[in-house]
Amino acid sequence: MEKNISSPARDLEFLSNREISNQITNLKHRLSDSLMILGHHYQRDEVIKFSDKRGDSFGLSKIAAQSSARYIVFCGVHFMAETADIVTDEDQKVFIPDVTAGCFLADCADIKDVKSVWAELNRITSDIIPISYINSSVELKEFCSRNEGTICTSSIADKAMEWAFERGEKIFFLPDQNLGKNTAHLKMGIPQDQIVLWDISKKQGGLTEKEIKKAKVILWNGFCDVHAKFSFQTADELRQKYPDIKLIAHPECSFELCSKVDQMGSTAQIIQALDNSPANQKWGIATEKRLVNRLQKEYQNLDIYFIDDYQPVCKTMSQITNVHLLHQLQELAEEREVNQIIVPEDKQKYAGLAINRMLKLK
Ligand code: SF4
Repeated sequence: MEKNISSPARDLEFLSNREISNQITNLKHRLSDSLMILGHHYQRDEVIKFSDKRGDSFGLSKIAAQSSARYIVFCGVHFMAETADIVTDEDQKVFIPDVTAGCFLADCADIKDVKSVWAELNRITSDIIPISYINSSVELKEFCSRNEGTICTSSIADKAMEWAFERGEKIFFLPDQNLGKNTAHLKMGIPQDQIVLWDISKKQGGLTEKEIKKAKVILWNGFCDVHAKFSFQTADELRQKYPDIKLIAHPECSFELCSKVDQMGSTAQIIQALDNSPANQKWGIATEKRLVNRLQKEYQNLDIYFIDDYQPVCKTMSQITNVHLLHQLQELAEEREVNQIIVPEDKQKYAGLAINRMLKLK
């Protein structure tokens, strides 16, 4: 739920970048310790340069929870701000400079559809444990919690699956089909004929009862429109051109691509791989363009290539500009708490339980 939605006035759009930067710097100084700005790795440079911390979605939420800042300004997308609100103290308030910045992947799983498919699945088979990727709405996290399931980050999706198989026969994995299949088959070794995709547009998901009963993993058909588009052909071309290159892909990329790379990795794991890399190593990376551009600048001792020419940006993350950030800080400096993300208490309780369950998997 968003409280006091507010957008920048038009006159802010006419300020020069230098003036915007000066004003943000002054406001940060004025708000001092009461403010923490968090910047997701995929954020625009003009925004991330003002972040006190940058990182992935859950890493940033944990940083917010450990801080004593009263105002957390989350420069990411909506579900990330929700997660931060769940894990922070009652006296901390979480804001997103543009409340309409959603996530394509999280929006793939409408909770009404999920509940109706869940009922259908349970009519056909039993002993199913739901797992949701953390890139999902608070309603989906609550659903998993209420149905004895859990949530996971991309780096511990395999641990979440192991946990689930200790408790049930089958997994219902949402919302990202690619993370689900890449984890189930490439990491867990589950045969492909026991991993099925529930196509929401078809009757009974386009599956027979026999297929559903045989399946170990049932995937929701969501995907990230940034990562799913990387092509495996470019991975082949890079490998041919540079036989010693190491290829690493985010597990939200397609199964075809992830089957070909040397390593799958979350944003944190990609950065760690570069940290541990020998100098002059060539790397091909498949993840969001802004992060890869930044890594190319920061790791000058490595040769870093995109595993594609299309170099995708996360469009919704891009909605937050330095103008939005300036507007947010101006309002907070005047004690006007606009664009606050508040997760209602009942959802907070159940989604919080799912997050705690996930933390125990680590
Ligand atoms: S990159 Fe994909 S999963 Fe991440 S916020 Fe953007 S749309 Fe969502």
